[in-house]
Amino acid sequence: MPRVVSFHYTLRDPSGRVLDSSAGGEPISYLEGSGQIIDGLDEQLRTAAAGAKSRVTVPAKKAYGERDPAQMQHVPRAALPVEGELKIGDQFQTGPHRADPVVTVAAIEGDQVLLDANHPLAGVDLTFDVEITAAREATAEELTHGHAHKADEGGCGSGCGCGH
Ligand code: ZN
Repeated sequence: MPRVVSFHYTLRDPSGRVLDSSAGGEPISYLEGSGQIIDGLDEQLRTAAAGAKSRVTVPAKKAYGERDPAQMQHVPRAALPVEGELKIGDQFQTGPHRADPVVTVAAIEGDQVLLDANHPLAGVDLTFDVEITAAREATAEELTHGHAHKADEGGCGSGCGCGH
């Protein structure tokens, strides 16, 4: 039976720099095997019980993937929705929705800009310090929807956003 697991985490890159953390906020909850968190982390937490603390290292290919050179593309500077100065490292979304890919300015060559559509964490091995705060069996409804629900709200409460 898949579980719904809640955890706090601090995410670091191989140099030890903190990339993200749930500290000070709500723990993250996910349904095992549903793709709500990166595969490599999901796989390595399958046997973790509530209260467990562990350090999990996920290789890039099981996190955000290896870098793909084919994701580098030249576009005219004028085609970008950016006013004012453009700098290497600037990031913007390619569409109006949160899920639209983010591209990063990799180079500026005259009136051409080299955009990198790889995920910013592609090619990066990730280390998670994880503390499991809760683990329970998934409900039938969660299995149908393919994601975790907040136990105290029942069903797709506020913030679920799945549209069921
Ligand atoms: Zn739902």
